[in-house]
Amino acid sequence: MATNRTFTMIKPEAVAAGSMGKILDMIMDNGFRVVAMKYTRLSRQEAGTFYAVHKERPFYGELVEYMASGPIVAAILEGDNAVQRFRDLIGATDPTQAAEGTIRKRFAESKAKNAVHGSDSDENAAIEGAFFFSGREQF
Ligand code: ATP
Ligand code: MG
Repeated sequence: MATNRTFTMIKPEAVAAGSMGKILDMIMDNGFRVVAMKYTRLSRQEAGTFYAVHKERPFYGELVEYMASGPIVAAILEGDNAVQRFRDLIGATDPTQAAEGTIRKRFAESKAKNAVHGSDSDENAAIEGAFFFSGREQF
């Protein structure tokens, strides 16, 4: 199986709840290597750009406000079949639908405030990683 990369954010409510260490433990315990990581905060404009694919959706305004509401942790992760395996680890968008043992089952508050982001394709993983990190910041 190919080793490749995905991109994640620990979202503002999970950082505010003090869960970033536990979430990072789950990620690393599941065999993902950290390629790049930063503690940062998105402006509304940056959050809007990051989630531009959802701009026609009814929840877009709420999503942008939420993602800009406090600091996040952004990271590029590497592992076997990284995009799919990480989506499996985070679980369904709606935590009431997320499987036992997933990050969202354990940490998400709601479908909107769902603790973590995970890229949905190799192409988007590369775009999202480049949004946050220069080549100089990837190891
Ligand atoms: P992410 O892209 O953050 O990993 P996802 O791929 O599981 O999440 P998407 O459909 O891409 O889900 O939605 C992006 C984000 O928008 C969700 O993670 C959630 O924070 C928010 N969101 C999605 N659907 C809703 C909804 N119906 N109401 C409110 N917020 C929503
Ligand atoms: Mg998504």
